[in-house]
Amino acid sequence: SSKGSSGSGGVNIQVLLRCRPLSDEERRVGTPVVVTCNDQRREVSVAQNIANKQIDRTFAFDKVLGPKSQQQDVFNHAVVPLVSEVLDGYNCTIFAYGQTGTGKTYTMEGGGGKALNADLPTDAGVIPRAVKCIFDILEAQSAEYSMKVSFLELYNEELTDLLAAEESKFSDDKSKKPLALMEDGKGGVFVRGLEEELVSSAAEIYRILERGSAKRKTAETLLNKQSSRSHSIFSITIHIKECTPEGEEMIKCGKLNLVDLAGSENISRSGARDGRAREAGEINKSLLTLGRVINTLVEHSGHIPYRDSKLTRLLRDSLGGKTKTCIIATISPSVHCLEETLSTLDYAHRAK
Ligand code: ADP
Ligand code: MG
Repeated sequence: SSKGSSGSGGVNIQVLLRCRPLSDEERRVGTPVVVTCNDQRREVSVAQNIANKQIDRTFAFDKVLGPKSQQQDVFNHAVVPLVSEVLDGYNCTIFAYGQTGTGKTYTMEGGGGKALNADLPTDAGVIPRAVKCIFDILEAQSAEYSMKVSFLELYNEELTDLLAAEESKFSDDKSKKPLALMEDGKGGVFVRGLEEELVSSAAEIYRILERGSAKRKTAETLLNKQSSRSHSIFSITIHIKECTPEGEEMIKCGKLNLVDLAGSENISRSGARDGRAREAGEINKSLLTLGRVINTLVEHSGHIPYRDSKLTRLLRDSLGGKTKTCIIATISPSVHCLEETLSTLDYAHRAK
């Protein structure tokens, strides 16, 4: 179970494992399944016999969601506990980690279903559900609040604003200029010139997500599968006005970061798995450093290397300390992904 989640000074990192179902195409061609999920025991097993060599490994997690799991289940286990922390004024982060094609974007954003009226589609992912949940709670409390969102892409250690308006192709295109990560002089960082949009309903999130995703996809065709090598960071910032018992006005501020990480195959291929490898270029720097930061937090093993990458500098105030973190590791059940699946399970298990 959740190591350290109750002890004082402990680290609040929950690791949830999600296995996607076989796709229609994989089913059609009869792709063998090598993954078994035991939701009850919170275990995942990988078994396969290759050339008389038997692979049979079992991993335990804080929560295991099998191929039949719904977006609502992910929300209940990964998001609900963090939302209450955020409303209490803490910063929290949810990461989706896994091989390209295993469901990181499906889990974070959704399956592309359209919102009907005020209801979310059943395939809505973590981001719209989190926004709706926060609205519902604050409205029920008749709280005075404001919500802002931002959507960033981090590729090759360069930050791009996914919400900045596209400008005419004839003018100098500001929206594609990398943004600078600046020190604020108080130990924190901020992104200079980042668009933050005020949001006043959950339905608006779809428009914002669509805009950001469309921009991410445009870049992908131009830059050779960029999205599998880039991280996207969706941040929700909430300010809530409160009154102390003495009648003094106070503003509480909480933040929720929802991070769709670069495909993990980009680090395992470079041999980063056992900490043996040197960094294979800038592309992987943030993913590698995140792994080191999380390991250091979990093992309480001294200096935390936040400063070594843009991703960890950016999320520094939301990782470690009193914050809560949830890692959703995603895998495919297919025999063809066996090696990457084992590497994801190893990585995610180490974060526990
Ligand atoms: P990633 O972002 O990790 O590269 P995607 O989220 O794009 O992967 O998922 C790859 C494909 O699998 C998409 O077509 C997606 O809709 C589908 N998919 C992923 N996870 C699930 C799931 N849990 N249930 C149904 N379809 C899924
Ligand atoms: Mg994706």
